[in-house]
Amino acid sequence: MTALFLYKNEINMKKFLLFFLVFIYTVFPQAKPYVILVSIDAFRWDYINRGITPALSQIKEEGVSAISLQSAFPTKTFPNHLSIITGMYTENHGIISNDFINLFTGERYKLGDTVSTREYKWYLGEAFWETAKRSGIKTACYFWPASEVLLEQKHPDYYKKYDKKTTDNDRVDGVIEWLKLPYKDRPHFITLYFDIVDTRSHEYGPDAKETNESIKGIDSVIARLKNSLSQTGLKDSVNLIILSDHGMTGIDKNRSINVEQIINDPACKIINTGPVALLHPAANNIKAVYEKMKKNENHYKVYYKEEVPESYHYSKHPFIPEIVAIADLGWEFIDNRIAERQKTGGGKLGNHGFDNHQLDMHGFFVAGGPLFKKHYATGTLLNIDIYPLLCRIFNIQPRSNIDGKAERIEFILNNN
Ligand code: AMP
Ligand code: ZN
Ligand code: ZN
Repeated sequence: MTALFLYKNEINMKKFLLFFLVFIYTVFPQAKPYVILVSIDAFRWDYINRGITPALSQIKEEGVSAISLQSAFPTKTFPNHLSIITGMYTENHGIISNDFINLFTGERYKLGDTVSTREYKWYLGEAFWETAKRSGIKTACYFWPASEVLLEQKHPDYYKKYDKKTTDNDRVDGVIEWLKLPYKDRPHFITLYFDIVDTRSHEYGPDAKETNESIKGIDSVIARLKNSLSQTGLKDSVNLIILSDHGMTGIDKNRSINVEQIINDPACKIINTGPVALLHPAANNIKAVYEKMKKNENHYKVYYKEEVPESYHYSKHPFIPEIVAIADLGWEFIDNRIAERQKTGGGKLGNHGFDNHQLDMHGFFVAGGPLFKKHYATGTLLNIDIYPLLCRIFNIQPRSNIDGKAERIEFILNNN
C-alpha cells in the first residue's frame, strides 16, 4: 500500500516536473544574446593608445582588448568586411578587391556601383546574418558591405542602403530604434559602420590633427551609443564588438611607381593601381609583362598569380589575374592618368591595401558585455575568426568551408 502510494507520488512528481519545464521554456524562451558589431573603417590598431578615446578605452579596460586585429589581404574595405562577416580569406569569399573584373565576361564589381555590389553572384561566402537568419535569429545592418544584396536569403532582415551622408548620430539612433522593436521583431545581431576616420586619414595621413579629430568624434559617438543603450533597458544584455577592417599608413606622391610606363603594353589591363597592381595581360604576353615587372622590381614584389606567397591566401580565385604586384609599405602603383593628376594636385597622404602582415595595416578590436571576459587583454586576433566567434556566441553551427577557427578566439568569452 505504502509502496503503491510512493510510486504514484513519484509519477505525479515527474509529471509536475515535466509540466514545469515546458512552462518555463514557453514563458521564458532561452535567452538569445544581443550583439552589436561596430566597424570603424581604417581605425588602426594603435589609435586607441593615443589618449583621445575615453569611451573606447573604457570598453578596452573593462572588457576584452586585442593588441591588434590582423586583416586579410588585400587590406581594403570590401574584401575585409567580407572576411569579417564570412570567416573566409578574400580568395575564398570572392571579393578580391574593392574593384575587380570577371576576367571571363568582363563584368565589373566596384565599390560605389550599387548595381554590381547588390548582385549576389559575386559573393561566395555566407555572411553571418545569413547563417543567423537560418537559425531563427533576427539580424539588421546599419551599413555593411554585402548587406544590400538583392536576394532574400542573402541579406539581413533589416538593412539600410549605404549613404555616406547619414550622420553618425542618425546611424546610432537607427540601431537603437531596432532594439526598441517588440521582442518578436527585434534583431539580436546588428552591425553598425562608420567611415569618417578612413576618409580623414586618406586625406591628411594617419598622424594628422584632422585624423585625430575624427578619432575623437567617433569616440563620442560610441559614448552616445552606450548612453542610448541604457535607455532601451538592454544595456546589460548587449554585447558590443568594436573593430576595424584594416589600418592606415602615410604615403606621398614621391613614392609612386608608374606601372603603365614599366609594362608599356596597351593590351595589358591594369585592373588595380595603389598598393596592389593587378595585371591582366593578353594571353600571349603574360611572360613578357611579368619579365618587365621583374626587371624593374624596386619598392615592390611581383608574382605570377600561382606564386603569391601562401601567407597572403591570394591565388585561388579565378578573378585574381595572372600577375599580382605588391608595393612596399608606403609606396604606390600609379598609371599615366594618375601621374598627370599628381602634377597638379597635392594627392592623398594616407592609404591601406598593403601586405596584411605589416603592423600598420592591422585594425583594432575591443569587446564588452555579459558574454565577454572582464579586464582581459590578448595578442593579435585574426579577422577571419570573428564569424566563428559570432557562431559560438549564438550557439549556432558555422559553415564548414570557412577559414576562421573558433579555437583561436573563443578564449575571450566567459567560461572558456
Ligand atoms: P576604401 O578606403 O577605398 O577601402 O573604401 C572606403 C570607402 O568605402 C568609404 O569611404 C565608404 O564610403 C565606402 N563604403 C563603406 N561601406 C560601404 C557600403 N556598404 N556601401 C558602399 N560603400 C561603402
Ligand atoms: Zn576600410
Ligand atoms: Zn580607405
